[in-house]
Amino acid sequence: MHAKVETEIKYLFDTPPEPGATRVLLPGLTWVRVPLPFVLNHVNCWLLEDGDGGVTLIDTGADKPETRALWETLFATMPENQALSRLICTHGHPDHVGLAGWIVDKVGVKLHMTLAEWLAPQVWRLEGMQPMQPATRAFFTGHGLSEAALAQMAKAKEVAPFRNHPLPANFIRMRDNETVTFGGRSWKVLVNGGHADEHASFYCKDDSLLIAGDQILSRISPVVGVFPSQPHSDPLTDYLASLKRLRKLPADTIVLPSHGLPFRGLHTRIDQLASHHAARLDALWDLMAEPANGLKLAHGLFPRAMAAEGQTVMALAETLAHAHHLVAKKRATRMVAKDGAVTFARV
Ligand SMILES: [Zn+2]
Repeated sequence: MHAKVETEIKYLFDTPPEPGATRVLLPGLTWVRVPLPFVLNHVNCWLLEDGDGGVTLIDTGADKPETRALWETLFATMPENQALSRLICTHGHPDHVGLAGWIVDKVGVKLHMTLAEWLAPQVWRLEGMQPMQPATRAFFTGHGLSEAALAQMAKAKEVAPFRNHPLPANFIRMRDNETVTFGGRSWKVLVNGGHADEHASFYCKDDSLLIAGDQILSRISPVVGVFPSQPHSDPLTDYLASLKRLRKLPADTIVLPSHGLPFRGLHTRIDQLASHHAARLDALWDLMAEPANGLKLAHGLFPRAMAAEGQTVMALAETLAHAHHLVAKKRATRMVAKDGAVTFARV
């Protein structure tokens, strides 16, 4: 029997639960809408009942007093025969892992993550406690940022240092392709790069369910960026490879994304994300008629984000990801001048 091929995106619900509220999605699988204090105003977390009273939580939200209060209420109002028994984080970004250390301390559960994603937030935390490193400064000036822009970034860092609760000192490592059991189901761990170095999604074949994390989102495209810690990386190649890999899952898979609404139509959504990046690559190639630096290209590719306050780093990171991919595909060259200034030109 062949699964019906989905040709469009079908949301399971038209609207999400209210901020901070829950909704049963499937028997034993509850959706928690956790508010975020960013432009991205929420993250979806999932509670899965193991059947023996244990409950697995996927992702935590950011470390904010409101989020702590939300989990305190939720844990306190769980049925008497249920208790949190496991915490899984899809990746190390603050909206997913922000309260992992706090929950582990509070409830005494183990944290399950991939290695790179457990390490990354701890590096960022250390970095956040120090002044901007010379290599980081060189990265930004090399791509065209002015001293004034750098001074502003340094100031923003002072005002808002990295405030995540520290991660637990130990964790249980998850690896690509292994099978894990939680929520009364068997899941294959799918570790992919692009958005984060070792982002984990979880696929349950029996119920055709994909806990996608940020790898596949329903309406927005996950950030794929080049950042100062890996100035020569090509994350878009990794991301596009992950789309090809995930497209091998059945078309009627129910996708549970970390942001937006759960949906059916995995192949359609993957095709949309792939063509979104293809269009960005073509637009960037057009902008490279004359050699240009990352900042100038970012203004051309993301004019709205570059005009908004505080979005320069993300827009530059995304621009560089597309530029490095064009270089990898031999559609562009990357030149570095003696003073460290980087320019790109189309081939
Ligand atoms: Zn993320």
